Amino acid sequence: MTPKAALKQYFGYEEFRDGQAEIISAVLDGRDVLAVRPTGSGKTLCFQLPAMLMKGVTFVVSPLISLMQDQVDEVAGTEVLATLLNSQISTHEYAQRIREIEQGKYKIVYLAPERLTQDKFLFWLRKIPLSMVVVDEAHCVSQWGSDFRFSYAQIGHALDRLASIRKQKIQRMALSASVTGEVQTDIRNKLNLFHPQVYLGGFNRPNLRYRTVFCASNEGRRHHLDRFLKRLSSGSAIVYCISIKEVERIRGILLQLGHPVTIYHGRLSAKEREAYQQQWMSGEVKIIVATNAFGMGINKPDVRMVVHVGYPSSPEDYVQEAGRAGRDGLNADCIVLWAKQDTLIQNMLLDNRFPSQELMAWAFARLHNRPEEKRSMPVSLMDWAKHSPYEATPSLIEQSLRFLEQQNVLSLKRGPRPGLMGIASYNPEAQFDYGVVQTRYAKADKRLRQIKQYIEAVECRAVKLVKHFDSETKMGICGVCDNCIDSQGTVDGLSSLEMSALHLVHSTKQRFGRAKIRMALDGELDPKVLASKLHLYTGFGACENAATKASSLIQQMLGKKLLRLTVEPKYQALALTDLGYRLLRENYAAVHASKGGNGGDATAKLEARTNKSFQALLNLRAELAEGYGVSVDQIWSRKEAEIIADGYDTEDPDEIIGKVLGADRAVQFGFRIVVSLQAVG
Ligand SMILES: [Zn+2]
Repeated sequence: MTPKAALKQYFGYEEFRDGQAEIISAVLDGRDVLAVRPTGSGKTLCFQLPAMLMKGVTFVVSPLISLMQDQVDEVAGTEVLATLLNSQISTHEYAQRIREIEQGKYKIVYLAPERLTQDKFLFWLRKIPLSMVVVDEAHCVSQWGSDFRFSYAQIGHALDRLASIRKQKIQRMALSASVTGEVQTDIRNKLNLFHPQVYLGGFNRPNLRYRTVFCASNEGRRHHLDRFLKRLSSGSAIVYCISIKEVERIRGILLQLGHPVTIYHGRLSAKEREAYQQQWMSGEVKIIVATNAFGMGINKPDVRMVVHVGYPSSPEDYVQEAGRAGRDGLNADCIVLWAKQDTLIQNMLLDNRFPSQELMAWAFARLHNRPEEKRSMPVSLMDWAKHSPYEATPSLIEQSLRFLEQQNVLSLKRGPRPGLMGIASYNPEAQFDYGVVQTRYAKADKRLRQIKQYIEAVECRAVKLVKHFDSETKMGICGVCDNCIDSQGTVDGLSSLEMSALHLVHSTKQRFGRAKIRMALDGELDPKVLASKLHLYTGFGACENAATKASSLIQQMLGKKLLRLTVEPKYQALALTDLGYRLLRENYAAVHASKGGNGGDATAKLEARTNKSFQALLNLRAELAEGYGVSVDQIWSRKEAEIIADGYDTEDPDEIIGKVLGADRAVQFGFRIVVSLQAVG
C-alpha cells in the first residue's frame, strides 16, 4: 500500500499536510528522523501512518499519561491499532495487553520513558518484533530544553542496550514542537540518532496575530486584559500567568470585571483540575486562567486568544503556549501584556530555581555526613531550608537535590508526603560539579533575554519567532502583527503615531523628559502636562485610542533610534536623533506635497510659512492690543502665537485656536486670526 492510499484508508484524508509526506517517506526508507513541527500541524500522523505500513510494533515514548490516552482515543474505532502501557492500568489489564502485544494485535504502543529504561521491560522487549521507537516531546531529553526529564535522558542508552541484545539497529524518530539549534544537537546525541534526516517546519502560523502591549501599571494591565477579553465573541481564551498566586489574583480581577473564568494550576487537586479543564474544554466557561502547567496535550481547535500576563519564560515556551490558539486555522490573537517589573520578577524566579554554590556544597555535605543507615531517610525540604546557613527556600533545597541527582550523587523517589523527598539510592563515591548548574543558569538567563527581545521587537513578530528556530527562513512579514500594522500607511516606514511623537518632541524644543511626553501622547490632563502647555501641541493624545500606548511607542522609538535621551546633568530629556529629524522633515514634505504643494523643497517652504505665520500673529496682536487699549500679552503670548503658527498647517484651524486661546478669546479673535493667516503666502 502506498502512503497516500494508507492516508485515505486509515485516517480518511485525501491529501498530506505541508511537509508530512517527506517525513513519512524518510521513515519508510528506514532513516532515523528528527522532526520539529508545532503542535497541531499533524505531527502524530508522521509516525502513526508509517507504523501501520511497517512490519512489527512501533513504540512511542510520551511524557504524559493524558497525552497517550488522547492519542489512543483519537484512533479508537479506526483501523489504527494502538494501545498504551502505563502505571494507571491494573496488573491484570497490563498482563493482558502484554499478551496481546506478543500476539501482534497492536501496531502502536505508547509508554512512559521510565518503563523503557527498566531492565525487566527491555528483556521482554528483546523478542518483540519492533519497527521503530518514537520519542515524542523529544526536547525533554535535553538539559537545555525547558521540560528536561531525567528518565528521558536515559532513553538513548536504553535503546543502545536493546540494540546490542537484539544485535540489530533500532530505527529512531524524535519529534518535538519547539526546538532550537542547541537542543537539536543535544537530542541527536542523547538519543544516538544515526545520520538523521532533520525536518524543521510549520512554525509559520499565518492565522496567528501577535501583539505585545506595554502596561505601565497593574491598573493598565487590568484595563487591557478587560479590553481584549471583551472582544472574544466566539471560541475560548487562555490567560497565562507566571505563578499560582498570580492566577488567583487575575481570576479575582476578571470575575470582578464580569468575565466568567475557570482556572488551572499545580496546587489544585487532580479532581479539581480535571473538572475545571472540562468546563473550559466543553465551552461552558470560555476563559481559563492558568500557569504554564496547563496545555500540554490540550487540543481545542477554537482557542481565539492566548494572553500572557507577564513574560513568557522563553521563545520556545511562548511558541508552544501561543501556538494553542487558532488550531482550526481561523484567526486568533496572541498577546503579551508586559510591564517593566516583569524582568525583575522573572529574575527572582530564576534565582529560586538555581541554588548557589555554597548551598549545594552544604546540601551535598549534609547528605554525605549522614550515618550510612540513615542515608535513604527522606529529606524534609522545609527543615533543611531552616537549618541551612544560606538563604534557602524549600524549593531551592529541592532543586539542589535534583541537581545532585542529575550528577548521579543520588536518585530520588516520591516522598511519603508533600514536602518530603524520598531517596532511592545514594552513591558515596560521586562528586558534584557546580559548573553544570552555572551553565544551566546561563542558558535560562539567555532564554529570558531572548523573550525580552521578542517583546520589545520593532520588526514583524511572526518572522522574529520563526527565525529563532530556523535562522535561514525566507518567510516574508506577516502583515497582521502589531508591528506590521503600525508601519502600514506610512511614509518611509514612519507610522502616524511615530510621526505625532516626533512632532511633539520637536515642536516642544526637546525640553521635556520621557514621563511628560508619555502623558501628553496618552492624552493625560495631568497638572504637570497642563503647566507645560503640552496639551496644546500637535501630538497630544495621539495614543489615546491607539492600540499602542505611549510608553511602548517611546520605548520602540528609542529602540529604532528615532528618539534619544539627552545626558543633561539634572534630568534626561527626550530628543530627536539625526535619523528621527531627517524622517520628520521628509514626512512634512510628503504631507505638504499631498496637500497640493509641488514637492521639491516643500520642507523649507513649510518652515518659511510657519515663520511668516508667527510674524503675522505678532503683528495682529500689536494691532489688536492697540485697538483694545491693553498690553500685547493680554491678547496672546509669544508662546501661544508660536504654537498656533506651528500647528496651523497640519491641524484644523478652529481647533488649534480654541485649544490655545480657550473659548472666550477664540470667539473674540478667531476670525481675525484665520483671515490674517490665510493671507500668509
Ligand atoms: Zn508581522
